[in-house]
Amino acid sequence: MGYSYDENNIFAKILRGEIPNKTVLETAHSLAFEDISPAAPVHVLIIPKGPYVSVDHFADEATDEEIIDYTRAIGEVCKITGVQPSSGGTGFRSIANTGSDAIQEVPHFHTHIIGGRNLGRMISQA
Ligand code: AMP
Repeated sequence: MGYSYDENNIFAKILRGEIPNKTVLETAHSLAFEDISPAAPVHVLIIPKGPYVSVDHFADEATDEEIIDYTRAIGEVCKITGVQPSSGGTGFRSIANTGSDAIQEVPHFHTHIIGGRNLGRMISQA
């Protein structure tokens, strides 16, 4: 079936500057901003600037430069938000929901960095 990117998704609009965001970090190929509906005291979304639907799309088709930039941006966000155990933080969860089973709401690849409180177990058994 292949990947089909919707240019009108909300994160594409953020990247075009059509709607505001609370930027945490901007790099050459990535943008990180506060989640509008935070699930914990720290809740930041990191997105690539390129038109990728999901983590698997990004892994398949992004350039090495984009992948390095994005991965480093995640590390930088963990530093900025202070969640890194290696720097005295109490940890975090990184999540990339993909497709309908994971209830991905926005069809532009994003990684959630969530922390600042105990997050409980990873997945409910229900
Ligand atoms: P997901 O279910 O993984 O696709 O997550 C989408 C996330 O985007 C949710 O946590 C929303 O709260 C967040 N979100 C939706 N619209 C915005 C927005 N305009 N600015 C920041 N975060 C948003």
